[in-house]
Amino acid sequence: MNVPLLDLKAQYATIQDDIQRIMGEVCADQSFILGPLVQKLEQVIAEFIGTPEAIGVASGSDALLLSLMEFGVQAGDEVVTVPFTFFASAGVISRLQAKPVFVDITPDTWNMNPDKVAESLTPNTKAVLPVHLFGQCADIPKIEQVVAEPKIPIIEDACQAIGASRDGVKAGAMGRTGCFSFFPSKNLGAFGDGGMITTHDSEIADRLRLLRVHGSRSEYHHHLIGANSRLDALQAGILLVKYQRLAEWTAKRQDNAATYCRLFKEANLLDRITLPVVSQGNRHVFNQFTIRTARRDELSAFLTENHIGNRVYYPVPLHLQECYRELGYRKGDFPVAEQAAQEVLSCLFTRNCPPINCICRGDDQSVF
Ligand SMILES: *Cc1c(COP(=O)(O)O)cnc(C)c1O
Repeated sequence: MNVPLLDLKAQYATIQDDIQRIMGEVCADQSFILGPLVQKLEQVIAEFIGTPEAIGVASGSDALLLSLMEFGVQAGDEVVTVPFTFFASAGVISRLQAKPVFVDITPDTWNMNPDKVAESLTPNTKAVLPVHLFGQCADIPKIEQVVAEPKIPIIEDACQAIGASRDGVKAGAMGRTGCFSFFPSKNLGAFGDGGMITTHDSEIADRLRLLRVHGSRSEYHHHLIGANSRLDALQAGILLVKYQRLAEWTAKRQDNAATYCRLFKEANLLDRITLPVVSQGNRHVFNQFTIRTARRDELSAFLTENHIGNRVYYPVPLHLQECYRELGYRKGDFPVAEQAAQEVLSCLFTRNCPPINCICRGDDQSVF
């Protein structure tokens, strides 16, 4: 048995004709940058998320970066984020010569701990950047209360969480901006890089549309200093095709997650494995199905030996990354994030066949 973590070839086989048709149209048109397909995708995503505005950009990282630029983040400013996430969440802050200020996560959902935010705010705090990790929303309402006075903008890193919601509000519709990635392994993945920013504020949207084209409203007249960060027509076309299947694919992920949880329970493994915790009011879209166990490395090796895809997201918390040595953080500063980095394993997340029996055969070869 061979169980890949994510089988994009199998997914492609189900949409091949539509994808080839739309790619054919773009090729016939020979118009590749922004354009009507990007506009259409922006409309579709805005409506899905529940914001009046969506702005296509070159990647999820750029969605975060342009948001920070829009809020005027610059050298010497501070932006509060979490140490347990993909590097981009903090990297974009440093790109602007601003300083990432980390706060620890909660041990159940691994999202930003709202109770730790207040102590990390200073007069230099220009934004708070919580991450909706693995497809589950952070507690934005609670974080919002903490940063209400003075009002500090919240930038949602929703790169892993398209379609997730909390109390009926979708990821990307809670903060001043919501940032999405269409990296191929996300729940809605392009055939390359792509990203989207959502917002309720039409003035912010207007400026973001300038920032993605070097601040230019009309050709060769530049109002702002921006960047080249545009979404391709080809990617937009592909994403429009894939978007039609997103609800179905998300339901499948949720189904699989429920099945895995049931099987782990039935196998009496809950004393050794902690299942994903979905907190009250949350709709989790399971970009990753992530469990924790003290014997993570053994389990990972065992799964790999048995050709079952598994990955550690993320083995090194950001405050302990070499490139952040000069921020002066130490081991022990964020114990919850550090323990998560030791114990999490994202695994078994694929089509139909949850090979739980491989883990719990009870013979000499199984880990547990
Ligand atoms: C994928 C991801 C990003 C970056 O998105 P790219 O499109 O790869 O630039 C940022 N934050 C998180 C949490 C992500 O998972």
